[in-house]
Amino acid sequence: MRKKIVAGNWKMNLTIGEGNALVADILQKLPQLNEQNQVVFAAPYLHLHSVVRDTQASPFVSVAAQNCHHEKSGAYTGEISAFMLQDAGVKYVLIGHSERRAYNQEDNALLVKKIDAALCNNLQVIFCCGEPLEIRDSGTQNAYVEQQIKESLFHLDAAAMVRITVAYEPIWAIGTGRTATAEQAQDMHQHIRQVLAQQYGATIANGTSILYGGSCKASNAVELFAGADVDGGLIGGAALIASDFLGIIDAMIASK
Ligand code: PEP
Repeated sequence: MRKKIVAGNWKMNLTIGEGNALVADILQKLPQLNEQNQVVFAAPYLHLHSVVRDTQASPFVSVAAQNCHHEKSGAYTGEISAFMLQDAGVKYVLIGHSERRAYNQEDNALLVKKIDAALCNNLQVIFCCGEPLEIRDSGTQNAYVEQQIKESLFHLDAAAMVRITVAYEPIWAIGTGRTATAEQAQDMHQHIRQVLAQQYGATIANGTSILYGGSCKASNAVELFAGADVDGGLIGGAALIASDFLGIIDAMIASK
């Protein structure tokens, strides 16, 4: 059975003290997790040390970075490499978040390099994809997301692909309060799984966790996670408030 995951993307939020307090609050009230139901904190670089430290004793809770550089080391002022992240105890890295694509000009060719660097350094990748509003309005979202997946992931062999989690995040739903309907999410997740199956076969496609992201909250998570191909969520705003994030974790555990 594939894993369900609720991953909180803190983005550029929280001081170290606030981050520590949030993690402590969530861990204290965390329901029983297991191999099939896992939680990830995708914290800013500055927080990684303390979040790794504070979650070390919590099985099935992992830490993600929100980005990495593709080179191992060198004259890249302001950058952090995948090599440094794995050394710091980080397990996952988000690659291809729409905000990085938009504000840091990250194209699919660069994402390939980052994904390769992450996998070479024993990190697992949460690969983000999703269409802008004009693509959704034109009805071509399936082809758009398929292209993102092909250009960023299809160079991987099967052994590498099993270390990828996909997060479908329609851009028009991120931070907007406008969530995809459960049907829209399920339709796209099913499409993504079919695309993966064509390239890697049914076993790998069925084993790949596909998370939904975009204004997911405790109040809509039950409905969204009910989709047969929806394996949890990548959560932005609602990951910053312990009770909201815990509500989404509860929805994951109760689903399927
Ligand atoms: C995100 O940025 O990954 C995200 C899903 O944000 P939000 O939940 O705030 O829409």
